[in-house]
Amino acid sequence: MKKHHLYTDSVHAGEGHFKYSDALTVPIFQTATYVFKNSHDIDKFSKKELQHYEYGRYGNPTQKAAEKKLAIMEGGEDCLLFASGMAAITTTLLAFLSKGDHIVLTDDSYKKTYQFCTSELPRFGIETSVVEMGDYDQLSKSIRSNTKIIISESPTNPYLNLADFEKLSEIKNASISKPLLIIDSTFGSPFNQHPLKWGCDLVFHSATKYLSGHNDLLAGAVIGTAGLIEKIRIFQNATGGIITPHCAYLLLRGLKTFPVRMQRQNETALQIAVLLEKQNQLIKMVYYPGLPSHHDHELAKRQMKGFGGVITFLIDRPLDSVKKFLDHLKLCQIAPSFGGVETLITHPASISYYSYSREEREKIGITDGLVRLSVGLEDPEDIMQDLQQALHSIL
Ligand code: PLP
Repeated sequence: MKKHHLYTDSVHAGEGHFKYSDALTVPIFQTATYVFKNSHDIDKFSKKELQHYEYGRYGNPTQKAAEKKLAIMEGGEDCLLFASGMAAITTTLLAFLSKGDHIVLTDDSYKKTYQFCTSELPRFGIETSVVEMGDYDQLSKSIRSNTKIIISESPTNPYLNLADFEKLSEIKNASISKPLLIIDSTFGSPFNQHPLKWGCDLVFHSATKYLSGHNDLLAGAVIGTAGLIEKIRIFQNATGGIITPHCAYLLLRGLKTFPVRMQRQNETALQIAVLLEKQNQLIKMVYYPGLPSHHDHELAKRQMKGFGGVITFLIDRPLDSVKKFLDHLKLCQIAPSFGGVETLITHPASISYYSYSREEREKIGITDGLVRLSVGLEDPEDIMQDLQQALHSIL
């Protein structure tokens, strides 16, 4: 069997077939539809004797190249791309669920996944049980005869909690209903972890983050066996929500540098997490799976190759001081999202959770002092210096 190397696959995989007019790179096929040469070709196409693109919503060569590359990078048979991470998640769930079905979701899932599963799916007669992340006993007990899907994330936002893939797949295999085990691996990325290798069935990515890596597009991906992806593709053909040819091209381009970026972001984040932990007169806690102080560090070492570019920390000061800290930053820019080349910092309490009351926020651990940093590709010394001068302003 061919040995796969991520650095080589990210540059070459999926593309050979699509080299047109001797171009080195895959072009952007900016077309809504495809032309058949004659009725003979139409007949051959309809009998599946001819591979031919038909209409833009059903696929595009630029999209196909990005899908093939990402499938290989994630260790799956096939991949399907979408207009956003949420389009990937919602389309996939709906492709496998019907009225009367039940799903299990871990509690600190991305807030829009949570909303979709707990507020939207019930309108279609689909029930969701929410279980505490890390409570495998509760998870196991919550599986019913009509449970079709277990969905979890790893690492999670903002505390970077980990799901134990091995335990999850054991639970799934031991259950009667054999639900699909789906992992949102956005925070992990295919550089650091491969949930499919641990027995998970499908992997989601918000390709908006590390995979594209330049904070310039929205995209989503689902990866798994050819059979499962085909089922989702047929459903996507009807629901739409596809990636545009231009975004597929930008993603394909971003994927070529993904392992190099990811390795650097892993290294920078670990360095900064260690330094932040030393600022204990101002910082109460640093959450980073690569730190021995992180509650899931042992699992992270077992399951991950690196620990990602996101660090969450708790500033031990009131809200006005935290705002002053943010306002003093010069290099780190205040914005949600993560995984891109620019270092971004976000204040979950006032950005992502502004619509929640203080009580609601605190119940889910979103306190005023909590800050999430996504390191970019700048020099680690410059990022740290910027953080230090801003922290100094609130000493
Ligand atoms: N999953 C996770 C873990 C995310 O953090 C996000 C977005 O932040 C999504 C899914 C949704 O992705 P998108 O914003 O590309 O729709």
